[in-house]
Amino acid sequence: MTHQSSPGRDPGPWSPEALAQLAPDLEALGAEAIIRWALDQFGSGLVLASSFGAEDMVLVDMLCRMTDRPHIVYLDTGLLFPETYALIDQVQQRYGFQAVRVVPQLSLDDQQSLWGDALWARDPDRCCTLRKVEPLTAYLADKSAWMTGIRREQTPHRRTAPVVGFDQRYGITKVNPLAPWTYKDVYRYLVRHGVPYNPLHDQGYPSIGCIPCTRAIRPGESWRAGRWAGQEKTECGLHL
Ligand code: SF4
Repeated sequence: MTHQSSPGRDPGPWSPEALAQLAPDLEALGAEAIIRWALDQFGSGLVLASSFGAEDMVLVDMLCRMTDRPHIVYLDTGLLFPETYALIDQVQQRYGFQAVRVVPQLSLDDQQSLWGDALWARDPDRCCTLRKVEPLTAYLADKSAWMTGIRREQTPHRRTAPVVGFDQRYGITKVNPLAPWTYKDVYRYLVRHGVPYNPLHDQGYPSIGCIPCTRAIRPGESWRAGRWAGQEKTECGLHL
């Protein structure tokens, strides 16, 4: 096998080549079958990294229908919207799980002391690295697979995302059950199944991240236009 994995971690039979071969067949089976496959393969080693956005709510709902011990984590940057924190509380109660809250090493005050005011406005890549990428990397260091709600139509970088693949950055399997889904597919699922979602989605926020880097979109704008508006940045770095 040529893939890299973290020292001491056995990736099991799922080499990059094996995953690439499997992906089209799994995709044809649909999102629920993909999650079921991932649960069978990785059990509690499968981590759903959730921002509790619309796509992640689909995955939370599907996962909680399949297991009463879902392994769900969220990155608490300290800068999430009050609506997001409220949704997390609501969802945990409704589905009966306790999400793992992953926090950055630096508090916001520490970050300000070390890097100055409003790092997100001057160097958002560094800010995302400190508040998102490094904490998630540390958390996934001893896990075997992670699941995300990314979809191909979201950003140019995601256009080729497979439903399963080997994530070189984290050295584990990555599962993207909703990769081929459209935005309409997501909302159809939420409505059909009565799944709670962030009220900001109905106020012009199709994509919701940290407060300083998220605004409502205007008519005619792309659905990601509200993230890091006015900057080149389109990804927080977790999926690169
Ligand atoms: S989204 Fe903005 S505030 Fe949040 S971690 Fe990234 S740069 Fe910082």
